Amino acid sequence: MTAQPRIILNDQNAIPQIGLGVWQTPSEDTADVVATALEAGYRHVDTAAVYRNEKGVGEGVRRSGLPRDEVYVTTKIWNDNQGYDATMVAFEKCLGRLQFDYVDLLLIHWPSAYRGLYVDTWKALVKLKEEGRARSIGVSNFDVEHLERITGETGVVPVLNQIELHPTFQQRRLREAHAKLGIATESWSPLGRGKLFEDPTVLRIAAKYGRTTAQVVIRWHLDSGLIVIPKSVTPSRIVENLDSLSFRLDADDMAAMAALDTVDGRCGPDPNTADF
Ligand code: NAD
Repeated sequence: MTAQPRIILNDQNAIPQIGLGVWQTPSEDTADVVATALEAGYRHVDTAAVYRNEKGVGEGVRRSGLPRDEVYVTTKIWNDNQGYDATMVAFEKCLGRLQFDYVDLLLIHWPSAYRGLYVDTWKALVKLKEEGRARSIGVSNFDVEHLERITGETGVVPVLNQIELHPTFQQRRLREAHAKLGIATESWSPLGRGKLFEDPTVLRIAAKYGRTTAQVVIRWHLDSGLIVIPKSVTPSRIVENLDSLSFRLDADDMAAMAALDTVDGRCGPDPNTADF
């Protein structure tokens, strides 16, 4: 297997640049899927309380036989558990389902700004980091205003922001803000949930390298310095996606991919108008 690239975060911890996403992976299949991915060479899994498959993630890690400290696991606090005390309770439940005594990365899943609780939630994550039960802490779906608020009120900068990002929705404004604040960018729905597989530019580049369209898109994330968490439950695709590590896009192809950006390319909700 090709060596796994890692990104050094602002707290000096390292995260494997590619991971396996498990949103919509059925809970009863998750242990198998995670064990398959770890056997294929993945060392990073992205779950969340709301995915209802943390138990399977923990089981898959143990079934792999790998030492706990060789697998990077992220989970997330769901919106209805926001607030300091509720987050503390919810996190204990995450650890209980995972059967871990720490997670590598804990995220606030959405700002859910209408609740007015994300600053208190962030304070709970800061405490959990101090206690060592969340080795790193970050956020997901935060906009610049949300990032500035938590950073301003606590002095603690999230290590990363996990956001919807793919070649048809490249989030340049937010990525520039991340760069200024020292926050890494992690791409969710990195394949655009499959909508890029028929794109003529991606098809042309895939033919040039003798690669699949999924590999070209994942490679674009890697060559853009992004952390990427493609989801699949199919063993051959799990392997195929990881094998994106074994080639590089040249500057012309990166430029052609850059030109695929659109202003309205989201697949998922806009965090600024989401009402959940
Ligand atoms: P994705 O972009 O990873 O696309 C997944 C789809 O592509 C699936 O239908 C899968 O079958 C297909 N696919 C994967 N590999 C393929 C291949 N090689 N060939 C053909 N088809 C392939 O979409 P996603 O699951 O929405 O996002 C990935 C991960 O991001 C999630 O599993 C989750 O961990 C995370 N996520 C986070 C948030 C958030 O709010 N923080 C939101 C959505 C997703």
